[in-house]
Amino acid sequence: MTTTKTSHHNGSSRTLPAKGVDWLHNPIFNKGTAFTEAERDALGLRGLLPPHVQTMDEQVDRVMANFRAKTSDIERYIQLVGLQDRNETLFYRVVMDHLEEMMPIIYTPTVGKACQEFGHIFRRSRGMYVSLKDRGNIAKVLANWPTHDVKVIVVTDGERILGLGDLGASGMGIPVGKLSLYTACAGINPNQCLPITVDVGTNNEAFLKDPLYIGLHQKRIAGAEFDSFIEEFIVAVQQVFPGVLLQFEDFGNSNAFRLLEKYRDRLCTFNDDIQGTGSVALAGVLSALRLTGGKMSDHRVLFLGAGEAGMGIADNIVAVLLEEGLTKAEARQRIWFVDSKGLIVKGREGLVEHKLNYAHDHAPCADLLSAVKAIKPTMLIGVSGQPRTFTEEIVKTVGSYNKRPVIFALSNPTSKAECTAEEAYKWTDGRAIFASGSPFAPVTLNGQTHVPGQGNNAYIFPGVGLGVVSTGARRVTDAMFVAAAKALASLLREDELAEGRIYPSLKRIHEVSLKIAVAVAEEVYASKLNTLPRPADLPAHIQAQMYKPEYTAYAP
Ligand code: NAD
Repeated sequence: MTTTKTSHHNGSSRTLPAKGVDWLHNPIFNKGTAFTEAERDALGLRGLLPPHVQTMDEQVDRVMANFRAKTSDIERYIQLVGLQDRNETLFYRVVMDHLEEMMPIIYTPTVGKACQEFGHIFRRSRGMYVSLKDRGNIAKVLANWPTHDVKVIVVTDGERILGLGDLGASGMGIPVGKLSLYTACAGINPNQCLPITVDVGTNNEAFLKDPLYIGLHQKRIAGAEFDSFIEEFIVAVQQVFPGVLLQFEDFGNSNAFRLLEKYRDRLCTFNDDIQGTGSVALAGVLSALRLTGGKMSDHRVLFLGAGEAGMGIADNIVAVLLEEGLTKAEARQRIWFVDSKGLIVKGREGLVEHKLNYAHDHAPCADLLSAVKAIKPTMLIGVSGQPRTFTEEIVKTVGSYNKRPVIFALSNPTSKAECTAEEAYKWTDGRAIFASGSPFAPVTLNGQTHVPGQGNNAYIFPGVGLGVVSTGARRVTDAMFVAAAKALASLLREDELAEGRIYPSLKRIHEVSLKIAVAVAEEVYASKLNTLPRPADLPAHIQAQMYKPEYTAYAP
């Protein structure tokens, strides 16, 4: 083999390894024990592998047996990351075949624990770190990535990792995990995905004192200094990877809203914590309407938490209310927020801009219980990152006003949920329509089994990404996220609804992602944001682009 040969690997091209041993040490090309006899001869692998040639199915069985024998989820996480670093195709085959079992490991809740321990469990670097040391040179640093054929970047500055706060550069587990889901759920080619952490310091005191912390041991920069660093990063991304889809992830909310507003009309970008969450929660709300009956305008929604997630969800609900014929003011009037200082009402001192839209004329209420009693919500949505804040009294009070109270406890990870699935069902005698951010097991109450919904953003962003990439969209719009939510809700079957589900089973994620991609693509064409021509058969065209975790044959 020569160094200059390239392979079209599932739609992306990469230089083939030079020598036998390089094939084994390159996770994109490595097949481990599954290299065939002919490949072992052709690629110089004789003697470098045990003699028995295995099928991919046998390799999957071995991985799963090891996975299930582990005694903790963090060990399972480490095992999977190791596999991803050795043999990417096998990693995706395992994850795609066992998505329900894998999702809580490669994503929330285990990924949160992995980020908290990142420096201590660190094995091998994945993705890119762009730090303050790179100021003035960011484009040069990005050019070090081995390919410029990148379609999706997920970037974090680690300031608000899940509901766990500032984890600095250790937040890298999140972009890595999210991009794995782009591939596993929607077949975005893993070789066209790039996780990036911008290290702008951390205010996590424990990390700053920890010699094993992987990031810069300095406090976060802020204000104009932060903005100019991000500006250089954005310009560099556009220069090195023109047309790429850039997803902002787990930035603190003091920056997230501003960055989204600043960049959404300059490049193809979105913020998953705001828009992705808004979309997946809207899908849950639309499904819940099938159980409660009535229209969205018959409902009053009360949020606990007025940050990125809450605002994203509220704005999407407003979009649906506008379609029902309400004015913006009438729509917003149906949505209320409680934050750490109580009910958000007009005239409250120091309200930041994103909260002002939902500050209504009302007497102040100091806490959630008094707000519940005053507003009498039909839907209670928790996005506060504050565990156990939906107390028995609060849930029972919401239950007393509604035949089917909608209770979403969306804070992640599981330890931060506002209440558990069991509590929500128990305190409402099984009447609650419940969803959480991290998964809860089904609950059996008085002989009836309720399947809690998981408002997992992974239902939405991979499909949106696929729709954007396959059309070469120039921008990502709110309308695309509303279209995605409607597509997701429309896929929920009657038999799933009867079990209390408000999201389709994760087993259907490929079908779901494809339908969402098609709905998003239709929106891209309708708004003339595409750079690629519309194909004759859109679903077939998009489906054909989806990555499959299959080994490529390399023998001549
Ligand atoms: P954020 O930091 O932007 O907002 C948190 C909000 O909670 C702020 O408005 C803050 O004032 C409020 N808050 C803090 N303490 C409070 C208290 N004691 N009482 C009332 N309000 C309080 O964070 P975010 O991005 O909006 O995320 C919030 C939570 O939602 C996180 O736990 C996150 O994991 C979760 N989330 C879930 C999903 C999902 O389920 N799909 C998606 C995104 C975020």
